[in-house]
Amino acid sequence: MQLKQPTTNASGSVRPTHVEVNLDYLCQNLKAIREKTSPAKVMIILKANAYGHGLDAVARHLAPHADYIGVAVLEEGIILREMGIQTPILVLGGIWEEQIPEFIKHDLTLTASSVERLQQIDRVAENLGKKAIVHLKIDTGMERIGVHYYSAHTLQETALGCKHVLTEGIYSHFANSDAEDLSHARLQLARFNEVLHFYEKHSLPTPLRHIANSGAVLQLPEANFDIVRPGILLYGVYPSDEVERTVTVKPALSWSSKVVYFKVTQPGHPVSYGSTWQSDENVRVVTIPVGYGDGYFRAMSDKAEVIIQGVKVPQVGRICMDQIVVNLGPEGSGYNGDKVVLIGEMDGQRITAEDLARWAGTIPYEILTNINTRVPRVYVKTEK
Ligand SMILES: *Cc1c(COP(=O)(O)O)cnc(C)c1O
Repeated sequence: MQLKQPTTNASGSVRPTHVEVNLDYLCQNLKAIREKTSPAKVMIILKANAYGHGLDAVARHLAPHADYIGVAVLEEGIILREMGIQTPILVLGGIWEEQIPEFIKHDLTLTASSVERLQQIDRVAENLGKKAIVHLKIDTGMERIGVHYYSAHTLQETALGCKHVLTEGIYSHFANSDAEDLSHARLQLARFNEVLHFYEKHSLPTPLRHIANSGAVLQLPEANFDIVRPGILLYGVYPSDEVERTVTVKPALSWSSKVVYFKVTQPGHPVSYGSTWQSDENVRVVTIPVGYGDGYFRAMSDKAEVIIQGVKVPQVGRICMDQIVVNLGPEGSGYNGDKVVLIGEMDGQRITAEDLARWAGTIPYEILTNINTRVPRVYVKTEK
């Protein structure tokens, strides 16, 4: 299902603009999360191309260390099964009736987010002569998919009557667990606990309970329950600036390119589309072959910085689809072929996904998931 992209050249070497993913860091991050949340099991969240890190390689590397995998859509689950991944996989998003047979065929766990959907799953499983595995989705304060906490018992009771469904889990999702003010998260947690009380009240076994995303892993240990569902934290990025950093993780992804052109630009000669920027003195500028067509957001124009020769230098003028221009200043140095750090570290200087998010007016999640398939991913292990 992967599109063939021009990411390697004729000699087979990788495009100079590429992403490097450190697989050891991913493992270390997972281990750190496990230590914080043990004895809870860990569902690694691999949706959206593993947050831009590359689904295939990340899944192969992390699946042996994970208890469960979470993805957003059916197709991501099928890709993992076709790769031969045997770890249990929960598809977190909403589903359509036509998709149900595909879930059962590929042994994917379904999210049952309404009574009607659950009954459909039961019927389809019966027709196929199989048992469907489901997790019930409760809406405790996100107003997205899921049955409201105040009517959850209808879903829980329906599940008891579904003979072709194994209700393996029950879950909810936090809206604000990465905030400084945890009052909404605590309200959601209280509502979830109330919903879970159903099983105790009826002396029934409780399915696997889960609600903790990265924010909750960091700030709400009482929300760990049986499984935690870290996404962004696994990749070494914190979900917000204000979240308490109670687990130490390292960013697994770095993004770099190379200088492709050098020139001196004079006052009166504006740079790039729209002629929005010009220098007031002669300055050295270099062109870098990366742009919004790679996921380097145009909204960062005139705000972004990159690192060349260990120095942070500003991007100037509009970011183009495939190229950016960087101002080295009157004396700065940078030559064709020099490495350019877009996200990552060089000589003690550092640019993070959070920096790009600030420049683009978004969150690091969107920065990472938008680095597109034209940018090759290279996988490395920590050099010792
Ligand atoms: C994406 C997602 C997560 C992971 O969220 P992070 O903030 O990246 O940890 C967990 N649960 C559900 C249901 C999700 O959709």
